[in-house]
Amino acid sequence: MEKIKVYDTLSKEKSLFVPVTPGEVKIYVCGVTPYNHPHIGNARPAVTWDVIRRYLIHVGYKVQFIQNFTDVDDKIINKAQGEETDWKTISDRYIEAYFKVMDALHVRHADVYPRVSDHMKDIIQMISKLIEKGHAYILDNDVYYDISTFKAYGALSGRKIEDMLAGARVEVNEGKKNPGDFALWKGAKPGEPSWESPWGPGRPGWHIECSAMSIHYLGNNFDFHGGGSDLIFPHHENEIAQTEGTTGTKFVNYWLHNGFITINSEKMSKSLNNFFLVKDALESYSGDALRYFLLSVHYRNPLDYSTERLDEAEKNMERLKEVIHRIRELAILSGNMETEESRALAEASDEALKGFHEAMNDDFNTGLATGALFDLARAINTYSAIIDTGVTVDAVAVNKAYEALKIITDVLGILEKEWNDDNTASDGDYQALMDVILSVRQEARKNKFYQVSDSIRDKLGAIGIIIEDTPTGVRWKKRGI
Ligand SMILES: [Zn+2]
Repeated sequence: MEKIKVYDTLSKEKSLFVPVTPGEVKIYVCGVTPYNHPHIGNARPAVTWDVIRRYLIHVGYKVQFIQNFTDVDDKIINKAQGEETDWKTISDRYIEAYFKVMDALHVRHADVYPRVSDHMKDIIQMISKLIEKGHAYILDNDVYYDISTFKAYGALSGRKIEDMLAGARVEVNEGKKNPGDFALWKGAKPGEPSWESPWGPGRPGWHIECSAMSIHYLGNNFDFHGGGSDLIFPHHENEIAQTEGTTGTKFVNYWLHNGFITINSEKMSKSLNNFFLVKDALESYSGDALRYFLLSVHYRNPLDYSTERLDEAEKNMERLKEVIHRIRELAILSGNMETEESRALAEASDEALKGFHEAMNDDFNTGLATGALFDLARAINTYSAIIDTGVTVDAVAVNKAYEALKIITDVLGILEKEWNDDNTASDGDYQALMDVILSVRQEARKNKFYQVSDSIRDKLGAIGIIIEDTPTGVRWKKRGI
């Protein structure tokens, strides 16, 4: 198994990844609140985690991947009220919109997409336990988490708990014990959806859902928890307090947070104009280009969204498409002509695969990994040009290059279609085409246009098709067969 190093936001260290259960990886990633079409900032964690998941599977792990939908939330309720419809209509609509664009970005579906509305029982049980253990208290119809009861509060985000406790200069509102205490349960308000609970009808606060649902699917302690760096505080800080407050054991072994997307170097905010919605970007750019762009820098770094970068990504995808077509054409040819050039191709393939693994093993650095991909693409182009001059292929080297390119593009999740498109001619098509070409050549010979007939023979030779004039007529074959 590959040795993978990961940076953990909690320990603030990069260390060797050791799974809770050997050979298995359990991942929980915070999903979206479906009240609008996904924006580019929503696509980044989705694509990042899709690649991490593909890579872990590639190196031999069995991966369990859970991502939630926050389908009970103020934003959904407000939108529903504005449209005079119910919250479920809104969340269903935008969950569908989410899948539509993520499918276009080749994001594989999670094993489960739990929704808050399906896990009220788990959430209520967890809140009851937190009250029982003295971590939570009832205030009117609400339930709050008392952050002063959790020693490690603030460890993930590096905030000072003193600033959030009662007695700090911040005013204590609403009768809460500490200004930093957060709602686990909110009593029902008129016109809002609500669920029955021991504290009266209401709905959960935002943070409790991820604690309850991750435990439900992955157990008390699991490997990876991910999301955007804007979730570190308060969302993930609160998740730790809730889960560890309930179970008394370590919650997550590695916290991974992706960086922001900036626009012309300024942080992208949620109040954007429509251009930055994924669906709009997909009108101008292919899913492959958009995905490649999102992977072009390490996930923890900020990523600047600009048309220049996207244009460049699209050009890179066009180049790679050509390279995939070339390697597929070369792979059809047979031959075992080992040359200096074929050795160079084999070497470049090994190097690219090694470089790719090294980059991914270093905290899933896709930005570096794409470098290995383009080194390989160049090597394939160089070799392909030599074959065009009529040199017989070295199938061993070609297969190495084919395999390396396939693995890298599969893990990155780009250009899947190019590998599956059957654009190579069938034997029947080939025969019909050759009949036409050879009849033209015979015509030229008959009329003593030998320059033309020889040129046809040489040019066919250059693409690996050999013509033999025999007493019984013209025969042709692919080189090496
Ligand atoms: Zn969450």
